Amino acid sequence: MTLRIFNTLTRRAEDFTPVSPPRVTLYTCGPTVWNYAHIGNFRTFLFEDLLRRWLEAQGLEVYHIMNLTDVDDRIIKEAGARGVSIRDFVAPFIEAFFDDRDFLRIRPAHVYPRATEFVEPMVRLVQRLLEKGIAYRGDDGSIYFSIERFPAYGRLSQLDRRELKAGASERVSSDEYAKEDARDFALWKAAKPEDEAVGAAWEAPFGRGRPGWHLECSAMALELIGQQYGVDVLDIHAGGVDLIFPHHEDEIAQSCAYTGQPDFARYWMHGEFLNVRGTKMSKRFGNITTPRDLKQDGVDAGAIRLLVFQTHYRQKLDLTDDALAAAREGARRLGDFAHRLQGAMAAGDGAGFGAAAERLSRDFAAALDDDLNAPRAVAALFDFVTEGNRLLDAGERPGPVAAAAWALADGVLDAATAPRFVSVPGRPTGGAVTAEVISETPPTDPGRLDGWAGEWKSRRDAAKARRDYAEADRIRKLLQDNGFEIRDRKDGVTEVVRR
Ligand SMILES: [Zn+2]
Repeated sequence: MTLRIFNTLTRRAEDFTPVSPPRVTLYTCGPTVWNYAHIGNFRTFLFEDLLRRWLEAQGLEVYHIMNLTDVDDRIIKEAGARGVSIRDFVAPFIEAFFDDRDFLRIRPAHVYPRATEFVEPMVRLVQRLLEKGIAYRGDDGSIYFSIERFPAYGRLSQLDRRELKAGASERVSSDEYAKEDARDFALWKAAKPEDEAVGAAWEAPFGRGRPGWHLECSAMALELIGQQYGVDVLDIHAGGVDLIFPHHEDEIAQSCAYTGQPDFARYWMHGEFLNVRGTKMSKRFGNITTPRDLKQDGVDAGAIRLLVFQTHYRQKLDLTDDALAAAREGARRLGDFAHRLQGAMAAGDGAGFGAAAERLSRDFAAALDDDLNAPRAVAALFDFVTEGNRLLDAGERPGPVAAAAWALADGVLDAATAPRFVSVPGRPTGGAVTAEVISETPPTDPGRLDGWAGEWKSRRDAAKARRDYAEADRIRKLLQDNGFEIRDRKDGVTEVVRR
């Protein structure tokens, strides 16, 4: 095992050693399903997907948990305003989240626990903290965590130089609060009429109420890894940098106070923000781009993955139109090459391909082992594409070694946009072209577009056959202007690809 990852807990790159290899328990904070998750959220999920895929590529068996926060202040407020239960309110957003995940080719977690379905272990956790005297009841009836009673508080976020505000007068019950001060936080919020109205209240020995956001992750993670493996410490916990404080700090406090373990997770990894044209992307500022917006714009998932992986996960990423256009072109280049490579496969590797594949495997692994340096891994992949195209032009054939190196790198990044070939309507080879006139203006019905391009392709084949190269070039240009690329392959076959 040579993987090194930057551990937020120690602010250092450390060798990654799971507690019980080949098993790795991975917990990643999931979305609060009160709206469509934006591309900034998905940047974090894509970094976690890369982590997951690289661990699995090493033969590790990852057990991946991602929670769905389906009860919180915002959800209760929105559900109340619409007069529906929280369960009904979140249902379409959960569905949309899974659609977006699949569109972006993110490997599904093994389990997606919903907060509202894990209330019992949450109640158990709070009960134990009350018994240990680490939690207390406030005069508002809610249960709070006393950070004074947990000396390690502030370790993850390095809060030691900040003021800790303990005690009932300085506590906080909101799910989101000022990130500057450390305060006692609510584990369990006493039920209010507006909670009851939307089905967001549960019975507990310490009073009817609902869980605080931080509590959810602790209780669900511990419950699931306990059930699955009988352990109470995670290998890796990941999320966005904005979760370090207070969310992850509070998760550690609750979990460690409950289990008595020094750690809740042995490695903490945090992904940086994504900015849209320089402004931090967040629903709160009305600056939203969701994967579904991009999909509607015809952007392929390969381009988004490539764009994200071209920046290291611990660096801020700017999403601009230019960057996206460049990533689209890059992803197409990968897809075109994959198609070419596949088509040229032989039983054995040519010498050039053997050497290039070895270089790819070595550089790719070295890059990702170095704290998931995806930009370097991407560069290694494009070096291989450049060299591979040169070798193919020179007539060299790739074999199993090249295929395996490509499959590993492509399988981890999954950033290629497959070329979309236009199927040309059946016409016997060399058959006569109909005399029927076809329009030079493409049909407005998108379903008829491929047929139109295919028809022009046949005309061009015929023009070439009678050596009317001016006409053939004119048709090539016509198709190009309408989003189709014509490729005359060396073996005489002509392909039409939709751009
Ligand atoms: Zn969490």
